[in-house]
Amino acid sequence: IEEQVKSWGISAIGKEIFTVQGEYSANMIREAVLKEDLGLEKPAAAPGRPPILCPGCPHRSVYYVLNKLKLHAAGDIGCYTLGAVAPLSVVDTTICMGASISSLHGMEKAKGKEYIKNWVAVIGDSTFLHTGVNSLMNMMYNKATGTVLILDNSTTGMTGHQDHAATGKTLQGDPTYAINIPALCKAIGVPNVIEINAFDIVNLEKVIKEEVAKDEVSVIITKTPCVLLDKSKKPLYRALTDKCKKCGMCMKPGCPAMTKNADGTIRIDDTMCTGCGLCESLCKFDAIELVKEGDR
Ligand code: SF4
Ligand code: SF4
Repeated sequence: IEEQVKSWGISAIGKEIFTVQGEYSANMIREAVLKEDLGLEKPAAAPGRPPILCPGCPHRSVYYVLNKLKLHAAGDIGCYTLGAVAPLSVVDTTICMGASISSLHGMEKAKGKEYIKNWVAVIGDSTFLHTGVNSLMNMMYNKATGTVLILDNSTTGMTGHQDHAATGKTLQGDPTYAINIPALCKAIGVPNVIEINAFDIVNLEKVIKEEVAKDEVSVIITKTPCVLLDKSKKPLYRALTDKCKKCGMCMKPGCPAMTKNADGTIRIDDTMCTGCGLCESLCKFDAIELVKEGDR
């Protein structure tokens, strides 16, 4: 209600004088509004926990590259919407399922093809098959230009790992026909369809730069499974404080398994690291290494 009232331009106060958690009581309202001291217990102060991509999430790697290239993204609905949050800060719009591609398309028609050379559309595999593919068809039909990234993690991550039309399994887990996403994009007529591993950051950067410069439609499919799909024991990385130069490069993608020690060197939480290797690939000083099986 508070949000709605504020959205109509009417000034309102609410949560800042009552509480953001739990129920409102008559006594709470008496204390807050009438300033009576009824000795009510104050709600516990919970630390802020902003939503964040999991350690080892392949989307983080893609967003690191987009952020480095200073590109904006028209986003969509899924785990990857978290690309809006610092330090990745890439996703600028999220309207509804499938709107990433149509937003990019609309921007191109409204502002011109040069304008969207600073933009890409970002959509997951599940959302693409749900409602993104029709927008891509429209891009081709309406002679658009622009680059679409399909972040293919082989599942519907955000809502609990449901299968979809490209995973090869029904919702009951039975084997079924799997739609081939690159072939589907080519069948629509997309002239540039590239598949790449999300953690291959050197080539990903090169490919994105090349494709956004084109006056054509391009689809880049970053094909790397959700880190939570693979339940097997994963490799583990550690930071070597004696080699660390405190440059902060490895922290740029914002992996939650990494923190800074008091002296500015890096610490990797071995209960959280999933061994994706992104931090190691960013460290130029060999200060992050794979932990050998016997040393774990
Ligand atoms: S390898 Fe590095 S970036 Fe990947 S999960 Fe472990 S600490 Fe995070
Ligand atoms: S990138 Fe390497 S040297 Fe730089 S802070 Fe991280 S571990 Fe230390």
